[in-house]
Amino acid sequence: MIPTSEPVVRLLAFALVFTALALWELWRPRRPLVAGRKGRWPSNIGILVVDVLAVRVLIPTAAVGAALFAAGNGWGLLRLAELRLSVAAILGFLALDLAIYVQHVVFHKVPVLWRLHRMHHADLDVDVTTGLRFHPIEILISLAIKIAIVLALGIPAVAVLAFEVVLNATSMFNHSNVVMPAWLDRALRRVVVTPDMHRVHHSVIRRETDSNFGFNLPWWDRLFGTYRAEPEAGHTGMTLGLPNFRDPRELRLDRLLTQPFRDERGEH
Ligand SMILES: [Zn+2]
Ligand SMILES: [Zn+2]
Repeated sequence: MIPTSEPVVRLLAFALVFTALALWELWRPRRPLVAGRKGRWPSNIGILVVDVLAVRVLIPTAAVGAALFAAGNGWGLLRLAELRLSVAAILGFLALDLAIYVQHVVFHKVPVLWRLHRMHHADLDVDVTTGLRFHPIEILISLAIKIAIVLALGIPAVAVLAFEVVLNATSMFNHSNVVMPAWLDRALRRVVVTPDMHRVHHSVIRRETDSNFGFNLPWWDRLFGTYRAEPEAGHTGMTLGLPNFRDPRELRLDRLLTQPFRDERGEH
């Protein structure tokens, strides 16, 4: 199955999940949009295109390629344990998800990395396209970390592909501006980060920004004490974004790309 049908699997999953969530947002939006779609969607989708191109050009083998290389050369700690493929795949998936959580915390704590990651947080609304809005340098660093983990552990290629497809889908899902019944949110929160859970992370209040770091599995936040159930001002009353990037001009694609290289204008 890998690698011939890999791009098709990725693209199909992306298109299906994106369309379903975009329609859900139109049907039942959680919050009225402050900056709307017209000023944001072309930039947020534009940055995704830049990210995909940057990865294709600079690290074309990507993480699945690294997994195939590790398998071909017998690399990785998981291989030493001689586990069954299914067990190695599940452990590999969990390890990648924990790594993404830790990396996210580090990108908040280390000032130079926060400069890259804060572009994700500067969106004035949070919807399905915010889940695609990451600076290309953050994407490349993130991919390099992922490749290192895949090589060190020898994570099976099928687990790497599954992880990337699932993470892409859950990132769009947990950023989506959708209403869901409270019982469904509660039930889903046991196994996946829900939109109400991740929205807290996009609060303009720093202590709320520094909580709910999970993108996929919600367990790491509970385990490491970074879980926050609700925003103080409530989901419809809270302000999204960063205190010092509130000018709608900051939503343009060129401004998104240059944002890490500009000062925070007094933001602490
Ligand atoms: Zn963040
Ligand atoms: Zn986010």
